[in-house]
Amino acid sequence: MRGRIEKALSGFYYVNVGGQVLQCRARGKFRREGTSPLVGDWVQVRELGGGEGFVEEIEPRKSCFARPSAANIDQLVIIASGAIPVTDPYLIDRIASIAALKGCGVLVCLNKSDLDPAEELYAIYAHSAIPVLRVSAKTGEGMEQLRCHIRGKLSAFTGNSGVGKSSILNCLCPDLSLQVGEVSQALGRGRHTTRHVEMFPVEEDTWVIDTPGFSSFDTEELNLELQAHLPETFPEFLPYLGQCRFVGCKHIREKGCAVLEAVRRGDIPSSRHRSYVRLWEEVKDLRPWD
Ligand code: GDP
Ligand code: ZN
Repeated sequence: MRGRIEKALSGFYYVNVGGQVLQCRARGKFRREGTSPLVGDWVQVRELGGGEGFVEEIEPRKSCFARPSAANIDQLVIIASGAIPVTDPYLIDRIASIAALKGCGVLVCLNKSDLDPAEELYAIYAHSAIPVLRVSAKTGEGMEQLRCHIRGKLSAFTGNSGVGKSSILNCLCPDLSLQVGEVSQALGRGRHTTRHVEMFPVEEDTWVIDTPGFSSFDTEELNLELQAHLPETFPEFLPYLGQCRFVGCKHIREKGCAVLEAVRRGDIPSSRHRSYVRLWEEVKDLRPWD
């Protein structure tokens, strides 16, 4: 039987097979092969009866992340805000580059539109290759559009604390009842004290994964990949790569750089290029053995 792993906890995999969830163990062969099933994996299971089973095969993955430990994420939904706490576009661009590395889509969702229209952030992404939406978890503005963007996909939601990630997830799936706001933080009982990853169903074939903050994507392996492929992770740069005067142009401040010319003409938002430079500074000297 074919199913999808929705949750992994204490050595068990919870596999959704046509709406029914089986509690499964993984075959020993996965450990011997140095792999293990992940949330988001499509798998073949053998039912043992009594709601239990075994994960027998893992289907090839489209993508996979070490943190959050999940496979086949279709898109990263970056929740940001123009109201306090205002999101630094650099943090958005960093996640967007990681998504590009992994072949995932990106959506920027500017929350708290009832308080602040986030004009600056909106202008950057409206002129970038990254789709952007304004939403309000409070008034419901933009929620229908957000639903359209996540329909039929597995989306991982990320964003700095306080931007309203829990509030939005609660709007999308009222069954979740995540704790909102300062209260949960004051009690020190954030939902991220546990490390398990879980896919929440929003509609049929539509799931979301909640991830703790932006730092969850910050792994050494990803930083090294960024070092090797940074320009290609900025989709607005693609038409210009290979057109710079010098081979090996890093698109920082070189003469005859086609990317910089596009920034000067206003074809690439300067904020996106600033993030590129900052990311390059961050990853350029990394060594795999550091
Ligand atoms: P999280 O840390 O990203 O999960 O953010 P929360 O969902 O806990 O929200 C942080 C605070 O912002 C809470 O006080 C929410 O009530 C408030 N908030 C969230 N979304 C909105 C919104 O769209 N408009 C307004 N005015 N407040 C919001
Ligand atoms: Zn260049």
